[in-house]
Amino acid sequence: MTATEICTYNFPTKIRFGAGASAELAATLSALQIHRPLVVTDRDVAQLPWFATIEASLDPLVASTFSGVWGNPVVSQVTAGLAAYQAHGADGIVAVGGGAPMDVAKAIALMVNHPGHLFDYEDGACTRPIDQPIPAIVAIPTTAGTGSEVGRSAVISDDATHSKKIIFDPQLLPQVVLADPTLLLGLPAKITAATGMDALTHLIEAFLAKGNHPLCDGIALEGIHLVAQHLQASVDYAQRLASGEVFDEATATAHLTARAGMLNASMMGAIAFQKGLGVTHSCAHALSTVCNTHHGLANAVMLPAAMRFNLLAVPEKFLRMARVVNPGAASGEDFLTWILGLSRAIAIPPDLSALGVTTATLDELVSVAIQDGCHPCNPKPVSTEDFHAIYQDALAA
Ligand SMILES: [Zn+2]
Repeated sequence: MTATEICTYNFPTKIRFGAGASAELAATLSALQIHRPLVVTDRDVAQLPWFATIEASLDPLVASTFSGVWGNPVVSQVTAGLAAYQAHGADGIVAVGGGAPMDVAKAIALMVNHPGHLFDYEDGACTRPIDQPIPAIVAIPTTAGTGSEVGRSAVISDDATHSKKIIFDPQLLPQVVLADPTLLLGLPAKITAATGMDALTHLIEAFLAKGNHPLCDGIALEGIHLVAQHLQASVDYAQRLASGEVFDEATATAHLTARAGMLNASMMGAIAFQKGLGVTHSCAHALSTVCNTHHGLANAVMLPAAMRFNLLAVPEKFLRMARVVNPGAASGEDFLTWILGLSRAIAIPPDLSALGVTTATLDELVSVAIQDGCHPCNPKPVSTEDFHAIYQDALAA
């Protein structure tokens, strides 16, 4: 770093964190002068018992629910959600769920007062200005992964091509986040593992990203520490619940602690990656585009190969991460060993073949990945040949 450069540090929004925070929703909306909220969620979350409790808590207001989000978010979901917003005469949005409903909610909010097609507002390629007010969003995250609730962007795919576009505006940042770890207690083990690895990937890639941002670096390292403490535990508790175990009070409290740790780590990842991401995310975005792979799972499977690629470029940074998860670590290589051990322990597939990728898919993956906007922040430049080698490594791992 140089002391002569001027940097911009942006830190996010009001977060109410803790067990039961979601019960503050109606009061939060009233304080924001929102009287007719549209609740945006995905179709699975809408079936969960606690979702009905949240809806019921909005009785003092005139609320409506749009639950037409599933899988990787696409433009048609935004269009349908916008129609629901207008039909309800809504004056604000509540986003409840993981990354997909968060991103769809932000895109709906943008389109309320902005004409044309959503992709007219693509970040870096805007053909229309974002110059109108954007309705307020209150976010209630229900996974610990994307951290989209503390972000200013939405990632939405084209329905036909699956090509992902980033929509960015500071007004897309939720005004208030109600981060309630009790909502994560029923999250299945597989989703807990995949989303948790997404959070870990954000933290690692933000720490490794080029550029000077000591605030983000500090947050990233502490976030990695939280993942080391709480991800495997969260997955273990999810498995035990799925097998029918009924937790005593001490175990239930430990489970809540693990979920809270991951919910913090996930927001810290999204805060830290304002610094940038890296090659893992470019590989993962291509997997989602070409193979429709879940974003967190794609990152999880790519992470070891991508980090093997990065290790020698910034060995001292790997050593710092290694010492966060194991104070006795002797080299950066120990961090790779830790990632592999964690992946195995939480049942992440060991290689890309488990995701249906074959050598025949590699050229297409590389051609999409090379155009992705994340790898320019990677600590080491990534060429077409490098992408080939990284995918090949992840295929043959
Ligand atoms: Zn991610």
